[in-house]
Amino acid sequence: MAWRDVMCGELRAADAGRRVTVAGWVDTRRDHGGLAFIDLRDHTGKIQLVLKESDAAHELRNEFVVQAEGEVVAREGGAVNPNLATGEVEIQVDELRILSRSTPLPFQLDEENVDENTRLRYRWLDMRTDRMQRNLRISHTAVAGMRRTMDDLGFVDVWTPSMTRGTPEGARDFLVPVRLQPGKFFALAQSPQLFKQLCMVGGIDRYYQIATCWRDEDLRADRQFEFRQLDLEMAFVEQPEVLDVMEAAVVGAFEAVGKTPPSRPFPQIAYDEAMLRFGSDKPDMRFGMEIQDATEITRGSEFGVFKNAACVRYIVVPKTFSRSEHERLEGFAKEWGAKGLAMLSQISKFLSEAELASFGVAEGETAFFVADTQETVEKVLGLLRLELAGELGLIPETDVFHWVVDFPLFKRDEDTGAWTFMHHPFTAPAPGTEAWDESSPEGVRGQHYDLVWNGWELGSGSIRIHDVDMQQRVFRTMGLGEDEQRDKFGFLLEALAMGAPPHGGFAMGIDRFCARLAGEPDIRQMNAFPKISSGSDPLTGAPTPYTDAALKELGIRLVEPPA
Ligand code: ASP
Repeated sequence: MAWRDVMCGELRAADAGRRVTVAGWVDTRRDHGGLAFIDLRDHTGKIQLVLKESDAAHELRNEFVVQAEGEVVAREGGAVNPNLATGEVEIQVDELRILSRSTPLPFQLDEENVDENTRLRYRWLDMRTDRMQRNLRISHTAVAGMRRTMDDLGFVDVWTPSMTRGTPEGARDFLVPVRLQPGKFFALAQSPQLFKQLCMVGGIDRYYQIATCWRDEDLRADRQFEFRQLDLEMAFVEQPEVLDVMEAAVVGAFEAVGKTPPSRPFPQIAYDEAMLRFGSDKPDMRFGMEIQDATEITRGSEFGVFKNAACVRYIVVPKTFSRSEHERLEGFAKEWGAKGLAMLSQISKFLSEAELASFGVAEGETAFFVADTQETVEKVLGLLRLELAGELGLIPETDVFHWVVDFPLFKRDEDTGAWTFMHHPFTAPAPGTEAWDESSPEGVRGQHYDLVWNGWELGSGSIRIHDVDMQQRVFRTMGLGEDEQRDKFGFLLEALAMGAPPHGGFAMGIDRFCARLAGEPDIRQMNAFPKISSGSDPLTGAPTPYTDAALKELGIRLVEPPA
C-alpha cells in the first residue's frame, strides 16, 4: 500500500467523489460540533480533513504526522475557503493513522519573529515553513538552471579536492590535520582556483563546478564559512567570452525560477568611475544621488578644511536636514572613518560665489561634503549614499546587473603597506600595462571583472596569467622571493611551463545570488543548515572539543586559546 496517492495541495472541486489517501503534518486543528477539522500539510499545500470523534482524532496535535483515507467532498458555499487552493473541497476521513507524534513545539510554524537562533536550533521544524520550503526549492531550481546552461554550452563538471594547499583568495584557511602526516595540515580550498587553471593546462577547455569553498572570515549577511560558487574556467578565450557565458548562466537561472531575466549584455562600468561616482566597487546603480568631485574647485578655498584636503567630494540629497539629523549622520560618517561631515548650509559662509555656483544645489536639497584622503572620501560618501537612499525610500524595486571592469592589478595591503593583489595573484595584467616597475606597480590594470547585482557583489573573475615569466613577475612585485614562489606555487609554475593555453574564468556566489532571487536579506535563509555569527552551528553544537586521545593521534597538543 502506498503511503499516499495524492499530495495535500492538489485536490480541486473536480476531485469531489474521489477516494484518496493523503499523508502529511497536522498544521492546525479545530473542534466543532463533535467533529475535528484538521488542516493537513505537505510541501504542496494544505487540505482540510473532517474527522468524526475518535480516540485518534482526539489525540492529534500540531505537527503529528498522519495518514488519512476518505472521500473528497465539495464544501458547502459558506464553508469554501478562498484563501486555500484546495478550499473548495475537504476529505471526509474514515481511516486515520498516526504515523508519528510530536513533542510540544519550541515555536509554532506560523509564529512571527521567532528568534533566529531558535529557528536554526530546530531547523527541521523551520524547514517546514513556507519560507524555507520556498527558499530551498528556489536554490535548487536556480542551480539546476545554471547546470543546464553550462551543460548546453559544453562545460565539463570536474570535481576538485576540498583538502589541498592554501589557495590565496584573501581569507584565512581552515586547517585539517591528518593522522598519516602528523604535524602537517591540509587547507580546505578557499576556491578551486588553481585546480581549474590546471584543468586548462590539462586540455579540459571548459570546466565548471558547483564548488564548495571554505574561508575563515567573520560571518555576515552575505558570508558563511562555507558557501557554494558556480565556478568556471575556459581556455582560448578573452574577457568578453567569459562575461557572455556568465550572463547566460544568470539568465538560465532566472528563467528556471520563472523570473524575467535581466537583458543582455549587462552594462559595464570601469572601477575608477565606479569609485568616483558611487564610492564603491560594487555600486548600487538602481538610483542616482551620485558622488560629485569638488577637489579642483576647492583648491583655493577660503575654507581650510577643503583647501588642505587631498580630496573633497559631496552628494546632493533631495531633502533638508535639521541640525540633529545632521549630527546623527555625522556620527555615522565618523564611525566609517571620516573626520567630519560638512553640510553646505552650515559652511556656505566660508565659500566663494564660484564654489557655491559649481555645486548646483537647488531649493529643498542638501549637499553633504567629506574632505579627506581619496579612499576615506570614497568609502564614507559611498556608505552615506546607501544609508540615505534606504532611509528616504529612494531605491526602486528593479534588478540592475552590471560588470565592474578595469580594476587595478595591485593594491597596498592595509596592514603592511606592501603591494599585494587586488583579485588574486593569477590575474593577468591588461594588455599594454605589462611593463611595470616591480617596486611601484600603481597604474597597472588587471583583466579582472566583478559581477554586481543591486549593490551585491555576486562574484569575480579574470583572464589569467598563462606565461610563467609573467607569473613570477607578479609574485616578485608582491614580495615573494624565488624560494617562496617555488615552495607555495611550484606546481603552478611547472604547469605553466609545460604548454598552458590562454585562459580565464569566473566564480559566482550561489547563495548570494539565490538570496537575491528569493528576496531574502541574508544568505542564512537560503542555506539549510547555516552557522551563526559566533562561528558555531546551533543545531549540532559544533565545533566541539576533542578528546586528548584523538588529538594525540594527530600530534596535536592544545595551548590556551587566544583571548
Ligand atoms: N577563484 C576566484 C574566487 O573565488 C574566482 C575566479 O577568479 O575565478 O573569487
